This record gives sequence, C-alpha cells and structure tokens, in this order.
Amino acid sequence: MNNSATGAGGSVGLPPKKKMAIRGSWVLTWQDDRPALLRDHTVYVDDGVITGVTPDRPAAGEEVIEYEESLVLPGMINLHSHIINGAMFRGIPDDARFEDPWMQRLIYQLLMPLGQLTHKTLAKHEVRDLVMLGMLDVMRGGSTTLVDQWHLGQEAVYFDVAEELGIRTYGAPSVLSAANFEIGDDGMPRFDFKPHDSSMLDRAVGVYRAHHGGADGRLGVIFGPHAPDTCVPELLRAVRETANAHDALITIHLSQTPEEVAAVEGRYGKNPVQYLESVGLLGPDLIAAHCVHATDDDLVTLRRTDTAIANCVISFARGGINVPLSRYSGAGIRTGIGTDSHGMNLISELRTAGWFSKLHEKCAYIASAYDLVRAATLVGASALRRPDLGRIAAGAKADLIVASLARPHLQPVWDPVKNLIWKGSSADFTLIMIDGRVIMRDGMCPHIPERDIMRRASAAAAKVWTLAEERGVLSRSIT
Ligand SMILES: [Zn+2]
Repeated sequence: MNNSATGAGGSVGLPPKKKMAIRGSWVLTWQDDRPALLRDHTVYVDDGVITGVTPDRPAAGEEVIEYEESLVLPGMINLHSHIINGAMFRGIPDDARFEDPWMQRLIYQLLMPLGQLTHKTLAKHEVRDLVMLGMLDVMRGGSTTLVDQWHLGQEAVYFDVAEELGIRTYGAPSVLSAANFEIGDDGMPRFDFKPHDSSMLDRAVGVYRAHHGGADGRLGVIFGPHAPDTCVPELLRAVRETANAHDALITIHLSQTPEEVAAVEGRYGKNPVQYLESVGLLGPDLIAAHCVHATDDDLVTLRRTDTAIANCVISFARGGINVPLSRYSGAGIRTGIGTDSHGMNLISELRTAGWFSKLHEKCAYIASAYDLVRAATLVGASALRRPDLGRIAAGAKADLIVASLARPHLQPVWDPVKNLIWKGSSADFTLIMIDGRVIMRDGMCPHIPERDIMRRASAAAAKVWTLAEERGVLSRSIT
C-alpha cells in the first residue's frame, strides 16, 4: 500500500482484484428489471466479476466483508459530467446573480471562459490534480462509472488518473466547429465556424484508438460533439459516420438553453432535436444531456429513435429551472442521471430529481426511491450498452457500494432503499468496489492520499481564480 504523495508521475498504488465475499443485511438486485431486495445475502466476487448471490454464509477461510445493518447496492453510473468544472467552479455559480438568461450567461460568461483559462494556463500536473479530486469526489459520491466530457488535450492525464484510482470511466473529448469563440457586448458567443475543418474530430479519433478498452476494459471513449449550436451539419454527419465505423457511442448537449434553440432555428429552420434527426445523429447509441427545452413532439422523436437522455437536475435548479426526470422517463425515454458541473454526489442528485419530479407532477408516488436508483444503475448501463453494469448478479462486473444503516438518521429500517435515498447521504457509504477492487473500506480510501490531492487541486483552482480576477473574467460575470 502506498500512502506517499502522488506528485507528477507519482503512483497511487491500485489495490488488487480480490476473491472475496460481501455479506449484506439487504442486497438490491433486479429481477426482470424490477427491484428485488434480498434479505441477508452474500455477494461473491472473483477476478472483477460477481460469481454468485446466495443466502448462505461464506465458507470458513474465505475473505468476508460484513457491516452491521448494511445495504449492498449496484455501483451507480454518472451519465454526464465535467469533473474539472465541478472542482474549478465549486461555490462560484451557486447563488450567483447572473442577469437573464441565467444558464446561457453561466455557460458563456463563466464556465467556458474559465474552462479555457484552466486549459491554457495550468501545467499538466495541476490538471492531473484537479482530475484526481474530481474522480475521488465521483467515487465517494456513489458512482462507480463516470461519463465525463472535457477539452481535447485532457486525455494526456485523464486516463492515467482513472487507471491509477481504479474508477470505471468513459471520456468524451469535446468536438466543435469552432475551436475558439469571442464573447460579444451582449454577452453572447460569436463563433467563427470552419465547416470543413475535421481536425478536432481527427484528434478525438486518435484518443479513441489510444484509450478505448484500456485498463482491462475499465476505460472507454465516447465521441462528444459539443452542442447543436456549436456544431455545423458537416461535422455532425462526420461524427455519425465515425461513430458507426468504430461502433462507438456519442454524447451531446441538447436543447440546453432557449438561446441554443433560437440560434439553431435561425440557421436551419429546425429546432435542435429536429436538426440532430436531420443529420442522422439521433439513435440508441446517443446520450443527449439535458433536453430542457425539448418540446413534447421532440420527446416523441427521442422515444422513437430510442435516444437516451442524461438528466442533470441540480445543475439547472441553481438557476431556478426545473428539469424533472419524470417528464422524460414518463415519455418512455431511457433517462439516466448526470451531475454536470455541480457536486458529484449521486444521492443528493437522485433525491433532488425525486423531489422535483413529485413537485412537477403533483404526485407522491412518482420518482420513487427505486425508480431513482434504477435510473442511476440499469438505465445508465443501458445507455452505455453495458448489460454487465448497474446490477448485482452472477456474470456482472463487481462494481458495488455498501451503505451502513446503523446510524441515527437511518433507523429504524423498514425499507433500506427508501431510507438511504430520502434520508441518507454519500457519507453513509462504507465500502466501494470497482472491478473487484476495494476502493473504499470502512469509509476510508487507504490507497489514495486524499488530503494531498485536495491540497494540490485547491491550489491549482486558486491559481486560475486569481488569473480570472486579474483579467476581469470573474468580476464581469458575477454581480
Ligand atoms: Zn455538460
């Protein structure tokens, strides 16, 4: 075990894949896609795979992990995020008084300029520290699989860090029709589109070839055209052809702001969903993030094409915008859960998605605790075309979480899943296993020097904030 600092080039010391048994007071499984809560069961794991789930106790001599009153859950899937942004912007957009339109100004006056500044000014080891902090946040927040979209160039550290920390992840390098943009006096972006420039897509293909399937299949790459208003038809058609040629997934931000809808309608005479359908991008291999301004007809189109959605409710709630999960899942669309650039805590994200859906539908039983966990496990796995993820069953990957219910806020236990989702937090997780490796045990990550990572990543973020203040990025954006 290596608790030394992980400076540039340093190693974290990944724990080995183990043959062991995890004994749970309750084990959440799915039978025919319906929840089945097993009482006092043992999950057997060997070489990164679940080999059985049975009521019997492990034989003497077998390595066993058992906690008092524990709930064993499938590892959850964060279907859309930007972990660098989560760390860089922590506390900045919260409560910020952007003039309307809030989300458009957040994206183009804060997130993208500060993101570009981060990309241009931080040294490789500083970006690495921020990625480490982000992935640690993701894992401790209950996600064992992460889909993360980032600037091209981040691949230089992203996959190495993921390999070291033990997370399962898909990286999506952003591809745009304009590498740079200017912000006009109205606060809106001006893009200098280069319709036939395929250099970003070519680089993304290079990332795919270099990293997809790496670390025993723990690493993956998804093609990530940024959004309908930043990608011209020539590029989106090329992305579709490239993804088909590689049998790869695609992810895109879709119908995120009214300004995006207006820009796309002005250019092409179609709304963003219609535009994506016209260039052949919709389909079961596409994960569309947000879809806030999708019309009811658009939802029918997304359902017909079996496009999946990543719902990120907190990210929009910050701006007073409700994006209820139930609107999309209720339309029959495969709707998973993402955290976007907010904190990476999946319990918090699920609970908020639940409350907001209940408020939207004015209905108590919509978005139940089990519906929410299902969205973050089975549905996310389906969007990733990974039937071996999001479930505790023989043959599935050994990605799981154990929550301890022996805590005052979770007692007494009538239904452990309801208790965890509606009353618990990610701090209640005591064990996290990914690919058969024990990443966290007794609430600690012994192979990861967490304090060191936090200190260095905070210093890297502070460096960008200082530069941003000097250059007026922050003061212009936030009042
Ligand atoms: Zn996003």
